[in-house]
Amino acid sequence: MASSEDKVTEDAERTETMRHSASHVMAEAVKGLFPGARFGIGPAIENGFYYDFELPRPLTNEDLPLIEARMTEIIKGNTPFVRSEVDKDEARRLFAEQPYKLELLEEIPDEKVGVYRQGSFVDLCRGPHVKSTVEIKAFKLMSIAGAYWRGDEKRPMMQRIYGVAFETRQALDDYLKRLAELEARDHRRLNNQLKLYITPDEVGGGLILYGPKAGRIRTIIEDFWRQEHYANGYDILYTPHIGRSTLWEISGHLDFYKDSMYSPMDIDGQDYYLKPMNCPFHILFYKSQVRSYRELPLRWAELGTVYRYEKSGELHGLLRVRGFTQDDAHIFCTPEQMESEVDEVLRFALYMLRTLGFKDFAVYLSTRPDKAVGDERRWQDATSALRKVIESEGLPYKVDEGGGAFYGPKIDIKFRDAFGREWQLTTIQFDFNEPERFDMVYIGPDGQEHRPYMVHRAWLGAWERFFGLLIEHYAGAFPVWLAPQQVAIVPVADRHLEYAGKIEAELKKAGIRAKVDASGERMNQKIRAAQLEKVPYMIIVGDKEIESGTVAVRLRTGEQLPPQAVGDFKKTVKKLVKGKSTGLV
Ligand SMILES: [Zn+2]
Ligand SMILES: [Zn+2]
Repeated sequence: MASSEDKVTEDAERTETMRHSASHVMAEAVKGLFPGARFGIGPAIENGFYYDFELPRPLTNEDLPLIEARMTEIIKGNTPFVRSEVDKDEARRLFAEQPYKLELLEEIPDEKVGVYRQGSFVDLCRGPHVKSTVEIKAFKLMSIAGAYWRGDEKRPMMQRIYGVAFETRQALDDYLKRLAELEARDHRRLNNQLKLYITPDEVGGGLILYGPKAGRIRTIIEDFWRQEHYANGYDILYTPHIGRSTLWEISGHLDFYKDSMYSPMDIDGQDYYLKPMNCPFHILFYKSQVRSYRELPLRWAELGTVYRYEKSGELHGLLRVRGFTQDDAHIFCTPEQMESEVDEVLRFALYMLRTLGFKDFAVYLSTRPDKAVGDERRWQDATSALRKVIESEGLPYKVDEGGGAFYGPKIDIKFRDAFGREWQLTTIQFDFNEPERFDMVYIGPDGQEHRPYMVHRAWLGAWERFFGLLIEHYAGAFPVWLAPQQVAIVPVADRHLEYAGKIEAELKKAGIRAKVDASGERMNQKIRAAQLEKVPYMIIVGDKEIESGTVAVRLRTGEQLPPQAVGDFKKTVKKLVKGKSTGLV
């Protein structure tokens, strides 16, 4: 009897076979439209399939419905997939016009090769496939992309068509709906609407320029960050963007991290490097004087902008960039303090994340890899301290055995969004390497020198990636305390401008970010503009409001609040801001 797990695997395999079969059908349809087409490969992928083609002209999106229509015909035709074995010579004749297939053929060691036919279309393929085209239930062609033959940029660029396929029409519809929701939340798309940041060509890839609205959000979060750090016993450091090669030689970055660092610049005959990390600077500060156990723990934080090399093809909006600001901190402590320090760090991070509206986390503990530096005993103590604090917070976690960095074990906290995607945020990481390299010590109660424990900690990780996540998490509709503009005041006609200005002044005086829309647009247009900008509140001001001395408040959700005194509205907004609430009323 098959277990339910076997059934799941079986279903998944059948779906994969169906998806791969759909790629054959697509190839047949393309051949019908372009008789001279040359074929690459057509595997099943997550949710669907693709096939690579060499065609006489570039495809456009208009071609996709035509190919789809032909595919539908082929599927309806209930054509069987027929397997046969042929010897290589016959295969060479069959694929004489297909240089890519011939190349693949020569790599097959066997004397006989598998060939599949459906209708007039024949493909070199190991299979398996569905029995008949009619088993391909629900599909859609999604996009066209360029792809080098065998992923090699020295080989020809082919045209790849991506499609998705599911067992039922319903499953396909659900998938497309989820995809549309994801796209609507894509931070790059929302940025076009909200105009938060730019990435101009003149500056170069992976470098972000934040505008006034993003600047406002960042200021609010950084202010919150500084305030909370001071309240939790941290001090804040500022360090330079570049440092001499000597520093990176001592730290070891020029050995183990050079590929991620940019070429040096020559200053007075010496090599200076853009910093990829802030840690060595903090260590130098530690070493700038003799440290006693009485001073420990030291908790030093910095919003430090670092630069790391990423391949241009891997840059992605705010998520993969070349210059980014880490909200970094380093904790230097004694072995006795280590566990309570890590506990505090974790508690602090969770409090901050929850305050920003993130609630669902996936926690990972990564342990000692085979290749590691540092004392075995310290590894054990640190790892068990990390495990203990996760458990004491009652967080479910997964252990990544051997997944730690070579210099220490770590905890990663990832945020799980509504779509099940995980986003790396907080990391808490021991370091047994740098304290050795820099020969860091403190004087213990015994008057002897001891090695401190060093913990790297980032709460948000990189500001850039965090900001991308923040945009997607709220779909651009930031909570009131973070909204760059909190209130849009919309006068019904020009004669209401003066009263609108008075309300603006009153709200501003209370610290509320309000602005009158004094443009020449019609009222509905103004409301639409504020709606697109996702401003939490719109205050409509007309004759009625002037007469009664009240305001009519419309929420960005479309909901209309009953007329109220300006004072009451002020109170509501101030309360929500103070409580860092995600609600609007
Ligand atoms: Zn196949
Ligand atoms: Zn660090």
